[in-house]
Amino acid sequence: MTQRTFGQPATPRPDDDLSRVLVVTAHPDDADFGAAGTIAGWVDSGLTVTSLLCTHGEQGGFEDTNREQMPAVREREQVAASATLGVKDVRFLSGHRDGWLEPSWELQRQIVEVIREVQPQRVLIQSPERWYDRIQASHPDHLAAGEAAIRAIYPAAENRYAWPELIERGLEPWHVSEVWIMAHPQTGHVVDITDTFDRKLAALQAHTSQTGHMQDQLEGLLRRWGSGVAEAFGLGPGRLGESFHILDLG
Ligand SMILES: [Zn+2]
Repeated sequence: MTQRTFGQPATPRPDDDLSRVLVVTAHPDDADFGAAGTIAGWVDSGLTVTSLLCTHGEQGGFEDTNREQMPAVREREQVAASATLGVKDVRFLSGHRDGWLEPSWELQRQIVEVIREVQPQRVLIQSPERWYDRIQASHPDHLAAGEAAIRAIYPAAENRYAWPELIERGLEPWHVSEVWIMAHPQTGHVVDITDTFDRKLAALQAHTSQTGHMQDQLEGLLRRWGSGVAEAFGLGPGRLGESFHILDLG
């Protein structure tokens, strides 16, 4: 474990030291808006990425979309979006209604199950803390998914007495070494996504029910966000970035 002074942000370990990453989000498209460029870079570095979605995002989209078909539509879109990044393992939890997500014991147990199955060294989650300056990034479902994920990571996934029935099913405790948090009010780490930006754009275009109405404006929006982050972190002119709060769990 790296020794750090209090208040100093953690820096991530090199991708070469890891092999598996788990991404946990509330809705389809959340990870693509917040981290698609970074995830594509991880895949390029040889990491295996699993995406776990807590809901099917059936409240999203616009009035002309058939509501009954929405869960299947969004599942298909997420699988296509993830494929553009090289992510083949996309999983959806059941039993959670979009817009009503809570960090319930049931949700925590389901995330613990996936952590123990996948055994990721790094987990990317949403911020359980509300970022008042970017309230849309802090949708209540995002806060709930982030809270359930961090509770699952520590202590439940690594504690064999949390849900003993999981041990009976062969799901042994697993320690996650590093957590990356998206849309956190204080991000200290930036990833230069200039080279993977085209795949981020393609991933978001695959969420047709959510982004189809934006047409050409989508690219402009993503470029504005990316260059704003790059500028704040001094990446240099013309660069694009995504930023994160990193936790080193040893
Ligand atoms: Zn969302």
